[in-house]
Amino acid sequence: MHAEIVSIGDEITSGRLLDTNSQWISERLADLGIRVLYHTSVGDDLDACTGVFRQALARADLVIATGGLGPTADDLTREALAQAVDRPLVLNQAALAHVRGIFARRNRVMPASNERQAFLPEGAQVIHNPNGTAPGIDLTVSRSGRGESRLLALPGVPAEIDEMWRDSVGETIERFAGEARVIRHRSIKCFGAGESQVEAMLPDLIRRGR
Ligand code: ATP
Repeated sequence: MHAEIVSIGDEITSGRLLDTNSQWISERLADLGIRVLYHTSVGDDLDACTGVFRQALARADLVIATGGLGPTADDLTREALAQAVDRPLVLNQAALAHVRGIFARRNRVMPASNERQAFLPEGAQVIHNPNGTAPGIDLTVSRSGRGESRLLALPGVPAEIDEMWRDSVGETIERFAGEARVIRHRSIKCFGAGESQVEAMLPDLIRRGR
């Protein structure tokens, strides 16, 4: 099984924000023994996001997306995802109750635009976001002859991702991955020899695919 991480937002592609979410998610996936093969960043553009989701779902078994789940017009993840899997956006009552609940807890009136956050692609499940308005999206799609691909769309705010991961996402991925695996990283420090010399001394350690 291998994974792709998709980070969404002009903030990232313009260079104003360093995409630390992809690094953090990669580390969590490595803890679960899942190899990340692609990091893809895409700006706030509907066609571009749709294309990126289509490609990711076709080539990765597990796709984790981050960002673009807010209530404003430039938050395109829900719409792009629906287009990518060719399903309509439908009102999810559990998601609506969650968004309303967050505003009620904060004693604030919910702007109408926040209802957008409760529309998910048909067949998607809500990922509970304990302290943010944006519910996450859990979507499974079937690929002809290659089993299913799973996409989990999370918000952009790092603290929310951290909490959602501990609350449910980590466990969901563990169950999806099936048999537990471990990826172990070792740093071997060398001094005084060039790379090719070290390779000649340790050919089996460097062999591709080992
Ligand atoms: P909301 O709009 O409800 O806050 P969202 O899912 O739409 O959530 P974004 O608007 O994309 O998330 O991002 C919110 C903030 O989270 C950004 O301004 C930035 O500070 C942080 N953020 C977003 N994406 C990343 C990322 N890939 N790496 C690090 N920080 C990020």
